[in-house]
Amino acid sequence: MPEAHCTICPILHPRLGIDFSGEKFLNYCPMAYRLVVAPEQITDATVMLTASQRHYLQRVLRLQRGDGFMVLDGGGGVWRAQLNDLDDGTAQLLEAVSEQNELPLAVTLAIALPKGSGFEEIIRPCTELGATAFQPLLTERTLLKPSPNKLERWQRIVTEAAEQSERQWLPPVAPPLTFGQFVEEVTGPETLALLCVTRRNSPMLGAYLKQSGLPAQMVLATGPEGGWTDQEIALAIAKGFQPVSLGKRILRAVTAPTVALAQLTALLET
Ligand code: SAM
Repeated sequence: MPEAHCTICPILHPRLGIDFSGEKFLNYCPMAYRLVVAPEQITDATVMLTASQRHYLQRVLRLQRGDGFMVLDGGGGVWRAQLNDLDDGTAQLLEAVSEQNELPLAVTLAIALPKGSGFEEIIRPCTELGATAFQPLLTERTLLKPSPNKLERWQRIVTEAAEQSERQWLPPVAPPLTFGQFVEEVTGPETLALLCVTRRNSPMLGAYLKQSGLPAQMVLATGPEGGWTDQEIALAIAKGFQPVSLGKRILRAVTAPTVALAQLTALLET
């Protein structure tokens, strides 16, 4: 195999057996490892890596001094970067990279927490699909009472998924809200609020959006295993939520958010 001349991930290319020696890969390699860092880790053009980031780059990926990877600040900034001296725990930003894989509108998924690890099953694919933010909900029929350290774990899962799916934006996972708090907070003229409901003869999500037009930002809410209560549906509608259907079949609570977002992205990206 011809030698790979990519300046960004000299280790990954030979291992994958891909020849990226072409001109266009000299400065920006789409296969490079992507690492989300907190904005405060960046000073001038130097990134101070955390212990776990250093461990991952050096011990797991086996990057050496001078090897390249991509750095993201989770707010749209993307840079080509290079690992510095192995002991100093820093990397150098070399140049900003222009890329845009985000959805054209902001979509917050408000999800009634399912049982067990169901929320983790949801946030991974929904990050891959382009969710902008996650709002866990405690509803009348929510069975899970999450421990406070769950938030950190959920954010870590979202970060890994955002790196893997080549996002520029890191979706934040907000602390859980009760359904009552949530409906008070989200409704406003600039946000289209949609409530996914079963058995109500509501318009299909895609059909509704085609007819209403696309907003700049949207909230899409899905219920728990036992569904919304009638009171919750009535409250949401009174606060301006539009009920929508995802189809005739009843989806599991862990399936519905992914299906809703997939239907939305199909509409936005065709
Ligand atoms: N027995 C419950 C009911 O009939 O509402 C089932 C709830 S379902 C397992 C969990 C949540 O997923 C629902 O509250 C709703 O938000 C969403 N969902 C599931 N299937 C749906 C569909 N076909 N259309 C719209 N929302 C759906």
